[in-house]
Amino acid sequence: MSVTENQEVIAVKQVWAGYDKTAVLENINLSVNQGDFIGIIGPNGGGKTTLLKVLLGILAPMRGEVTIFGQPVREGRENIGYVPQLIHFDRDFPISVWEVVRMGRLHKKGLLRHFSSEDDEAVAAALDQVNMLALRDRCLGDLSGGQRQRVYIARALAGHPRILLLDEPTASVDPQVSGSIYELLHELNKHVSILLISHDMNAVSSYTKTIGCLNRTLHYHGSNEITEEMVQATYHCPVDLIAHGLPHRVLADHHGHTHTGDHQDD
Ligand code: ADP
Repeated sequence: MSVTENQEVIAVKQVWAGYDKTAVLENINLSVNQGDFIGIIGPNGGGKTTLLKVLLGILAPMRGEVTIFGQPVREGRENIGYVPQLIHFDRDFPISVWEVVRMGRLHKKGLLRHFSSEDDEAVAAALDQVNMLALRDRCLGDLSGGQRQRVYIARALAGHPRILLLDEPTASVDPQVSGSIYELLHELNKHVSILLISHDMNAVSSYTKTIGCLNRTLHYHGSNEITEEMVQATYHCPVDLIAHGLPHRVLADHHGHTHTGDHQDD
């Protein structure tokens, strides 16, 4: 199945959200269209996880509205495959790659039903998509960080989502592995819309089609450029400091400064 561009898959309208009556997200407006591959960056504490919680229906907005394929989050949520941040886990915990990915089928059937051959086919197809089918019987704890991330992406894909939400997908892997994860996402983006969040500007590779900046408020204009104004509004510090090591092409309009990545910040 290929996607039709421009159909709105997620609409966030004037959303305020937070905890204990204190807003950490203010007046967020975001339109995600089919075929999008959006990277949202921002500093720690800027509200990225809170935004994901709102999109997943874990946190109700204080004000505003979120719809997924025109439906309230409660119903539209089944179109989303969520890939949480890689966390440290007990490497001795005896669970296989296959069993992890099969969890991605649970919401389709409820906890107490048996898995069917249709589930097996979906799990095998998802593992194949991330190139991990050959390792299906391996213990999750024996895998590298990059392989585990592929397994978690497969778990999200097993539910046949139309949107993938990813939380810091390359935070725990080295740059080379990070590149291969982005290549995989680039491939998957032919069939699913992708929204990912990261605190690391360097992690948002050239594969993301558009980039937004979030720190309490969201600066997103459907563009693949981060302007000086967006960075200063988001990080509250000069572009030069933030952009060290950032591929130059990502930043628009910053007055001929070069960032070769081979000097120390002042
Ligand atoms: P990010 O993912 O960008 O690091 P978060 O969305 O986790 O940011 O956090 C945004 C703000 O909300 C932070 O100030 C954080 O301390 C606060 N916060 C996050 N989760 C909770 C919570 N469960 N209860 C109260 N405050 C929270």
